[in-house]
Amino acid sequence: MAETCPHLAYRTEGDGKSFDTARAFCTVTESFVQPMRADVCNARYGLDPAADCEFYVDPGASDGSETADR
Ligand code: SF4
Repeated sequence: MAETCPHLAYRTEGDGKSFDTARAFCTVTESFVQPMRADVCNARYGLDPAADCEFYVDPGASDGSETADR
């Protein structure tokens, strides 16, 4: 049931930083993921992004209402 978080991306730049190799990037917080949290993002060790990450938002919840696309 636990899958990689749908908000997880890999980018070489963002949040005012850039790297030679792509790093885990959270499209919710618009910032690079801390190594500790990356275990949650990748649903390792039985962790579940939806349950264990306080930044997680339901991907289906953005139709039509408050979440502005930017
Ligand atoms: S688990 Fe949390 S920090 Fe990681 S990508 Fe998903 S929402 Fe972002």
